[in-house]
Amino acid sequence: MYSVTKLVTFCYGHRLLNYSGKCRYLHGHNGRLEIELSSERLDPRGMVRDFEEIKRTIQQWIDMTLDHAMLLRKDDPLVGVLRKQKQRLFLMGDNPTAETIARIIFTHIQNLGFPVTSVRLWETDSSFATYRNSSPRTKTSRLRRLPFSGLERSPRRRIRSVATPVS
Ligand SMILES: [Zn+2]
Repeated sequence: MYSVTKLVTFCYGHRLLNYSGKCRYLHGHNGRLEIELSSERLDPRGMVRDFEEIKRTIQQWIDMTLDHAMLLRKDDPLVGVLRKQKQRLFLMGDNPTAETIARIIFTHIQNLGFPVTSVRLWETDSSFATYRNSSPRTKTSRLRRLPFSGLERSPRRRIRSVATPVS
């Protein structure tokens, strides 16, 4: 298995709801992303993906949507105030922790068609969160496994097993 990792940096602000630590206050980070793409085969150029192509597409999206944005949970009472002030917002369904930000970036890169295997977000010099695929064929193997696991009789469990982050 080959893999390449691209580093991307971006600045963001956030705060956490339902949280008693100091991250409940608005504050910012100089985030550093390590985006890993993997492939069992190289393309005719001998690459997993061209670093330039990764930079062009992924970095551009991060620059346009996340960089210098305030990442907030969509029901945060500050959303209305900041919107009126024409602040740059990126709204999320979950609390904007390093874990959920990494997952959102992972999903976006995957939707762009890149063979992403992990996204690591360094929130500080000593703390990072990683979201990764447990297996490159996760989707297929899960579907194949379902009929034999008894989970088809328990829709609630099946939904949860598909939706649970695998980090
Ligand atoms: Zn923070």
